[in-house]
Amino acid sequence: MTTSLSADWVLPVDGPPLEGGYVAWDDGCITEVGTGRGDRHYQGCVILPGLVNAHSHLEYAVYAGFADGEPFGAWLATHIARKRTLAFEQMLAIARRGAADSLAGGITTTADYSFSGAAATAACELGLRAVVYLEVFGSDPALAQEQFQTARARAPESELVRIGISPHAPYTCSLEVYRFCLSLGIPVGTHLAESANEDEWLEHGTGPLAANAGVLVPPTGMRSVGTLEPVLGPGLLCAHCVQVDAAEIALLAERDVPVAHCPRSNAVLGCGVAPLAALRAAGTRVGLGTDSPASTPPLDPWEELRTAVYASRARERRPDALLAAGALRLATLDAARALGLDAQIGALTPGRRADLTVLSLTETPYDPIEDPTVATVFGGSPAGIMETIVDGRTRYRQGETAWPEVRSTASAARRRMLA
Ligand SMILES: [Zn+2]
Repeated sequence: MTTSLSADWVLPVDGPPLEGGYVAWDDGCITEVGTGRGDRHYQGCVILPGLVNAHSHLEYAVYAGFADGEPFGAWLATHIARKRTLAFEQMLAIARRGAADSLAGGITTTADYSFSGAAATAACELGLRAVVYLEVFGSDPALAQEQFQTARARAPESELVRIGISPHAPYTCSLEVYRFCLSLGIPVGTHLAESANEDEWLEHGTGPLAANAGVLVPPTGMRSVGTLEPVLGPGLLCAHCVQVDAAEIALLAERDVPVAHCPRSNAVLGCGVAPLAALRAAGTRVGLGTDSPASTPPLDPWEELRTAVYASRARERRPDALLAAGALRLATLDAARALGLDAQIGALTPGRRADLTVLSLTETPYDPIEDPTVATVFGGSPAGIMETIVDGRTRYRQGETAWPEVRSTASAARRRMLA
């Protein structure tokens, strides 16, 4: 059965905006995108592809504000200590809240690095499309394999949810562990070159991270990118990439390494401003990621879009360093490319999956709409999301979907961490 929606504008992302546009789909697959009236019409709204979040941790959805203002190493230690107070059930409660907030914000796909595997269950239950990368740590591939299998046993897969693996970072995992992860033939994601603290530890064995020396791998005498150089390739998604110089950017591009750009997280933690313009100019596949409320309260992809614009324009001192259309691509089609999913999602075209969101701009200064892309990027917010559809099914509708149970159990888990 064909379903269709129409609005003042449709933004297909890989084609020009359509005024008075509609999108139709059948059995979860987009069949038509054009101009005209759909079964249901949204006045004052824009229909766009569901946002693709290139980096999240659903399990940290209520970790907001922990150790705010502390250096990266001390901040990390607080998060590890508080996480240890939780049982799996509480991690799952928080992950459900993360999945709910994602859908309510217009996100339809997330690339989630998961400590316990709970993110996979949460995404399956709430109908969020996800690649869930199960985190492993340490120097020994045999121990990493055990960590992976433990989490894997409780992490379900579905038509929407795929399981991957995440060697955490070059300062917590050895190259042997990275090689083991890359040998599995599943999606692999890591954190790379996030902070200067990380380079300081890897090069010299000093700096704030040394306080966590018990969980770190020994210094390598090289920076973060140099440390991972032997394993960098198109199958290793790298979040952050803030501390990268020109030669390292060239290397990332030459190896076709996908990058998740997380400008709010990098700013809140004082890690810096990633060289987004240079990464894109070099041809790197870059997608936008919110990271988690642990470092970027709240889980709001629209704030992330705008921060990407502000940070890039400020860093380059040019208003065209990142235009609204470029920012929207970072959060949709480019993020899908970074995940290798661009044939299925990331744009509204016949043949792709029906993942879309409807954004109202009626309460914003962009109403009535002049340029729909500018209005969407600068006027978008979770409060404006009217409906979010994943694989042709409505998973969030404003005023109808509130998940009260999800919210109260997640709050209880946060209360436990604060006790
Ligand atoms: Zn992360």
